[in-house]
This record gives sequence, C-alpha cells and structure tokens, in this order.
Amino acid sequence: MAMPSTNVENMRSHQKVDDVLLYIDGAFVAAEQGGTFVNRSPYTNELLGEVAEGTEADIEKAVACAKAAFKKGPWGSMKVDERMTYIHKIADLIDEEIEEIAYLEALDTGLPIAQTRKMTARAAENFRFYARMVQTKLHGESYPVDHEFINYTVYKPVGVVGLITPWNAPFMLETWKVAPALATGNTVVLKPAELSPLTANKLAEIIHKAQLPNGVFNVVHGMGERAGAALVAHKEVQAISFTGETTTGSLIIKNAADSLKKTSMELGGKSPLIVFDDADFDRALDAAVWGIFSFNGERCTANSRVLLHKNIKDRFVEALKERVMNITIGDPLDASTQLGPLIEQAHYEKVKHYIELAKEEGCEVIQGTVPENMKAGNFIPPTLLLNARNEMRVCQEEIFGPVMAVIEFEDEEEAIAVANDVRYGLAGYVWTNDLKRGHRVAQAVEAGMLWVNAQNVRDLRIPFGGTKDSGIGREGGHYAFEFYTEAKVIHVAIGEHHIPQFGKKKS
Ligand code: NAD
Repeated sequence: MAMPSTNVENMRSHQKVDDVLLYIDGAFVAAEQGGTFVNRSPYTNELLGEVAEGTEADIEKAVACAKAAFKKGPWGSMKVDERMTYIHKIADLIDEEIEEIAYLEALDTGLPIAQTRKMTARAAENFRFYARMVQTKLHGESYPVDHEFINYTVYKPVGVVGLITPWNAPFMLETWKVAPALATGNTVVLKPAELSPLTANKLAEIIHKAQLPNGVFNVVHGMGERAGAALVAHKEVQAISFTGETTTGSLIIKNAADSLKKTSMELGGKSPLIVFDDADFDRALDAAVWGIFSFNGERCTANSRVLLHKNIKDRFVEALKERVMNITIGDPLDASTQLGPLIEQAHYEKVKHYIELAKEEGCEVIQGTVPENMKAGNFIPPTLLLNARNEMRVCQEEIFGPVMAVIEFEDEEEAIAVANDVRYGLAGYVWTNDLKRGHRVAQAVEAGMLWVNAQNVRDLRIPFGGTKDSGIGREGGHYAFEFYTEAKVIHVAIGEHHIPQFGKKKS
C-alpha cells in the first residue's frame, strides 16, 4: 500500500515522539527505580526521546503479573476460539496503524520506509497465521497399545516465556515470537533491544487496545546486561526465545542453565551467495545486490559473501560496481530511499573499522557516495570488498552492514568448501541453471536455509533458523509449537492390564 507523502510529512512534523514507558499488567508505567535512557535518530543523531529503563525490580514485577495471568487464567485455559479472537484483533489493529508503525520503525532504526512498510504488513500476517495454525494444527496424537491402553498427547503452553529481540527489523522480529507465544496460550515478558524501542512500545499500545487480559503481555525496556539478564535468570520464566548476536546467545544459554530453561537461539550469519557461470546473470545480480544492501545490510540472512565463478567474475564485478554507484542513499523517511543510516554511531564505527581492515588485508574497496547533506547520519555507503579471500577476517566475521565481500572460485567443489569454511550456518543462495547442481550444492552448503535461483523469500509455514554458530531451534510454522508448548502424554487403561501385586498376601 503506497502511503501519500503528506502522511509522512504530517508525522514528521511531530518529530518528537512520546517518551516510552514500560508496559506491565495492562498499564504503561515508569521504571521502579525511575531510570531512563535516551533514544537517538540514526539519521541525525538527535534525541528522539527518553525510554524508561527497566531493571531487576521491573522484571520481577512483570514476571509475577505474567505468572498470575497464566495461572489464574483465563489466558492459558481460555477456549481456543476466544483466544484467537484477540489474536485476530491484534492483526487488524496492526493493519489499521500500518503507516504509523512503518514510520516509527524507519525513524528509530534508519531502515528505509519503503522496506519497513512491507515488514509491518508481514507482522500483521504473523498474528493471523498463528491464529489459523493453532486452530487447525495444534493437536495431539493417540496411540492404541495392544488393546490395553490408549495413549494420547496434548500440547500445553509452557507458561511465562521471555522474549529477547534485536534492533534490526525489530517490529517484525518481535511479532515472530509474540504471535506464536500468545496464540499457544503462554504469557509473555518482552525485552526489546534498547536501540529500537519505539515499535515495541507501539505493539504494547496495540495489544492494550485489543484488550488482552492484564498481565498476558508485558514489555520491559532496558539494557541487556540488566533487564535481559534478569529475565533469563528468573526462576518463574520457563523459556527464553532469543534473537541476536552469537556471543550474546552463548551467554544466555549459560545463564539459563541455572534454572534449566528451554532456550531458542536465532543468531548471526555470514551467508554465501554462489553464482555459477551458467546462472541467469541479471537475476543473480539483482539478488546479490538486494540481499546485502536492502535493510541497510543489517540483516541476519544477508549474503555478505558473494562467491563468483572465475568465468563470470570480471563481468559480474563490473556490474556490481555500477550498481553500488546508483543505489539511492537518503533519508529513511523518503519513499525513494534504498539505503539509510546504520542504527547507531558505535555500530557505524564498527562497520567502518571492518572496511579499513579489509584494505589492510589486501582487498580493493569500492564504495558509493553519501550525499553531502547527510553527513550527520550514520551512513556507510554500499561497499564492495574485491579480491577477498575467505580466510580474511572480513569474510569470517559478521560485519552487519552494507558490505559485500567478493570471492572468486574455480569449480563446484571449491565453492562448497569456501561456503562452508565459516563458523556460521544461517542461510545460503545458489545461482545455476544446472538443475542437478542446484540441488547438489543446496544440500552440501552447511546452513539452515538455502535458496536456489531465488532471493530471500519465505512462506510462514517453513522453518526459519540456522545451524553451526547461527542458532539452535527453528521458528515458523508448526516448528514454533515445539518451543512454545510441552507435549504431555496421558495413558488411559481400556482393559485389565497386569499390575504387579507387591505386598499382597497369597491366599
Ligand atoms: P545483541 O545480541 O547485542 O542484542 C540482542 C538482544 O539481547 C537485545 O535486546 C539486548 O538488550 C539483549 N541482551 C544483550 N545482552 C544480554 C544478556 N547478557 N542477557 C540477556 N539479554 C541480553 O544483538 P543485536 O546487536 O541487537 O542484533 C544483531 C544481531 O542479531 C546480529 O548478529 C544478527 O545476525 C542477529 N540476528 C539474527 C537473526 C536470526 O533470525 N538468526 C535475526 C535478526 C538478527
């Protein structure tokens, strides 16, 4: 849905957004200790507003309310159709407020508004999808055993779940977790990323408007090391679903071990896009460019390594150079912007550091140009690292910005070896018109998700997640049920099966 630019202008005139509070037990509240932190615009680095900084005390309060809402009900024990009415209501309200959410997301993260609009529509669909899934697919099995028993399974919500989310595509990624968690009957404490609080706050407003029972959904903003860590450590939280950096994920698993929690991990990536010399050149080019420069390159499944067959490398590189010079860099609120500023100055410095490192490691660096009037923002232009070798740090470590390393290969065997020679295993992309090779390479690349002659498109029914250091577990479709529910088996005797008679006197 195209938004009339006047709407953006109207919203822009209210550039100062409301300060953000915590949402606990159905009320927007300040942090217990009264702390706040500042939220800045990636485009200007000016203040966008203050955010209540939750700490251990707020997590304690939120978990207690979530537990009460789960135990006393009616959420977990509510009739499914009734619960799904709330879930559909959330989806409808997101649709109604799609323009404002897309605007806030672009303002807060620097992601171009044309892209945040699409993601917001997708977020509404996450709720509808899980409402349908729970109504039609969340059911157990029954096992008749030798005419003596019937065993059947039921799937129960796990209880209070903690959801910890990153700043890239925050609204959509939050709804990936919130939708299945709520639809399956859990109550939720969400700890959003401190760098992008605005749309998490909007989600709380929407859920408030949908009139979910108090305590079913709670949001505690705050620092990862405090609010996040307290949520992970809390004994009444049964499960933690986390999306973020691999090092943070590893720490969370360690901390969650003390209270024996279930954890689900969606972590970093360094995904390869492999182009063979028989590929559809133009489509492979479109996909390679879009896959790293969309979402400002701040994307877990970005094809940050592009592997080119030696026969097409020179031509492909020339075409890439032309593309990076023509990508529209600009204000994230401008509908024609293709690449916006990075989330914060520290991240900008990190990405810049990697580009310097690439030069030291021997890469030729080609970059587009940031318009002069945008220098206040955290802009890194679209960047190519040519003549890269896979053992370089810039090919091994996640840069998480608009930076593509280009690596040449000789044959299929080498392409697979290079693709796999990395600690990550989130996504991979293969471009070839040889059907057998497409399947072969897709099977051989060590990653949770492979696309053959396709860019990153995803049906909500399929599993999403990574292997190696990119994650543990899967989100999406019925795969999310494994995390958000517990299978319970009930054994019912239908015959007089033998029961040993310990201690009974012989007659
Ligand atoms: P991050 O790990 O720094 O932070 C993620 C969240 O964890 C934030 O809410 C943060 O406050 C919290 N946190 C930090 N330390 C914590 C601790 N000790 N205990 C509990 N919570 C803590 O990640 P980020 O920089 O926000 O996000 C970018 C990363 O996320 C990239 O590595 C990217 O690849 C990854 N990511 C992965 C996927 C996926 O599906 N695999 C999707 C999006 C992003």
